[in-house]
Formats: sequence, C-alpha cells, structure tokens
Amino acid sequence: MQGIAAVSLGPRKEMVFREFPLPDVGPDDILVRVRRSNICGSDLHIWHGHGPEFTQGEGFVPGHEMVGEVFRLGRRVKTDVLGQRLEEGDRIAYTYFLPCGNCAACMDGSPACPNRSDHWFQDAGESPHFRGAYGEYYYLRRGQTVCKVPPGLSNSEVSPVNCALCQVLYGLDQIGVRLGDTIIVQGAGGLGLYACSLAKEMGAGQVIAFDRLESRLELARSFGADLTVNIESVNRKTRREMILDLTRGQGADVVAEFAGSPLPVEEGVHLLRQFGRYLWVGNVAPGRTAALDPAISVRSGHTIRGVIAYAPWVLPRALDFLARRGHAYPFEQIISHTFPLTELNEAFALADEGKAIRVSLTS
Ligand SMILES: [Zn+2]
Ligand SMILES: [Zn+2]
Repeated sequence: MQGIAAVSLGPRKEMVFREFPLPDVGPDDILVRVRRSNICGSDLHIWHGHGPEFTQGEGFVPGHEMVGEVFRLGRRVKTDVLGQRLEEGDRIAYTYFLPCGNCAACMDGSPACPNRSDHWFQDAGESPHFRGAYGEYYYLRRGQTVCKVPPGLSNSEVSPVNCALCQVLYGLDQIGVRLGDTIIVQGAGGLGLYACSLAKEMGAGQVIAFDRLESRLELARSFGADLTVNIESVNRKTRREMILDLTRGQGADVVAEFAGSPLPVEEGVHLLRQFGRYLWVGNVAPGRTAALDPAISVRSGHTIRGVIAYAPWVLPRALDFLARRGHAYPFEQIISHTFPLTELNEAFALADEGKAIRVSLTS
C-alpha cells in the first residue's frame, strides 16, 4: 500500500506530492490516517525560511497541526494517555513534537526541549516517510502524547487542538489567569480567539482583544471578548487611556501576545499594571526585534513568560474543554477556509496573505 505526502523543496518553493509505501509499524508506534491538517503561523515561517530555527530546507514533510484516525496500531499500544482502550479506526489527537528526554529542559520537566522536532525534519525518502501533517498518513512515535477524541466533536473543531488550542491553554495556565483579571489579548487570529474563550472560562473579569481586522474582532466578541479594539482606528495613546479607564487607572493584570510581531510587545509592557504578567507566544521566528524599555518591567515587578510547545496534561484537557463548552463558542469558525490536500500550494498562498483565521486541508 502507498500514500501521498507533500515534500518541501526549500524556502518559498511550491511543495510537491510524492507517493511512499506505508511503513511497517513498530510495536510502540501508531500509523495515523490524517483527515484534516491546518496551516499554522509556524508553518508559514518554515515555508519562508525565517530565521535560523526555520531553515529546515528541503526534503521533509511539512505540517504539524492535524487530526486523524488510528490506521495501524503497534502491537504493544493498548491505550491512550488516559488509559482509554485504543483500536484501529479510533479518532485521535496527538502532540506533534517528541521531547528528547535527555536535555536541560527535559530534565526540568519543561516542554521547551530544543530537540523536540528533530524527528520531523528528516528526509521524507527515509522510512517511515510520513513525519509531517501534509500527507495522507502520519507516523506517531512512542513518546508523543496520544488521546482519543471525545465523540460529538467534528474534525474542524479538533484539528487545531494539537497546536493552537493546547499552546494557548498551556500559556494561560503558566502565566496564571485569576478570577476577575483584566486580560488583553494581542492578536485575534486562531490563538487569540481561543485565548478569549479560555480566559473567560478561567475566570477573567474583562477580556479585551486587539487586532487590525474588523472581521477578527467581530469573531473575538463571539469568543467571549468583552471589548475589542481596532488598532488601525484607535491610536496607541488612546488605547492606553482606554485600558487605564477600564481598570481604575491600574492597567491590565495580564497581557497575552499572539500577534506574532515584535511591535505589540513594545506596547504591552505599557498596558500592564504594577506586578502584572506578560505572556509571550506569537513571536516564534527569531531575528525581528522590539525597542523594549526593561526599566518599566523592572520597576513594575512584571512577570514576563515565553512559552513554546506544551506539557502532556494539556492535550486531554483541551479536548475535554471543547467537548464540554463547545456549545458556548463558535469553535467551528476557527477554520475559515478548507482545501483538498492536493491544493496545498493554493492553500499556502491564501494563508500567507494573513487575513484568514486558519486555512485547512482535508484528505
Ligand atoms: Zn503550530
Ligand atoms: Zn530534550
């Protein structure tokens, strides 16, 4: 049996589809039939070859955000991470990264393992071939967290879970959202929309979303934002005055950056209260800098926390959150455009315009 997968030919080049034989499945591994995969901001950075972290060159299978079904189960794999019995045909969500277990970050139990994607960027020609999301199959290795998808959730709802939703859930957990907090969400793309709903669920008193696109801000309101601010029409000085007015002159308890650009970070420190907390998630591509005044954060006792990847406990909680609260927010709308997998290059061109929430591929 054979399956197709997209192979990268280097920065900004069209990806090509190749056919590979389905690999034998190791006793602790799983071969997944991918049903839906998405284009995340990181996929665009990798495609552009942005910065040293994102020059993965050619020959690998791109994509990391996805959902699929168990196609072949390794003979020693009996259950998912929660101990639920796994069988061929079961729909599963899974981490796209694989911590090495043997570095300073792994030693401390942090998901920021610098080797976590080594298995991904290997040559597609080498078995098991299917190491990225943009293929009909995906080879899951022992050490990647696997969780059965609760019934009743659509693939559109579940496909962004293993990157976007888990990343936001972990980030907000790490920075800490407390009852009554005022939180500013910078950037109302997929991650920012999840952040609005999660912050609300975690007890935030006021959720305020910043973006430059009115369509995203409108969606942010249906994801729980109490107030939205269009940064094109409201200038920076007025934005700060608005936040001070809404917080009795104190500033926000939490600012969370999902914009993926350094400029909002410069603004964010001016929006925080004394002892406020700043979560950094969006700026994954190195090389672009901001003019930060560190004295503001020192003199205010700010906590600044960057997060990358997430801890294993996050995945089942994210799925449960969708299953339990799916009726309260329009999660289906996170996926704004869908293409067949074979139109991957067209889908990338659209995603690269930066106006879609999330572009998705079915196979
Ligand atoms: Zn991602
Ligand atoms: Zn490691």
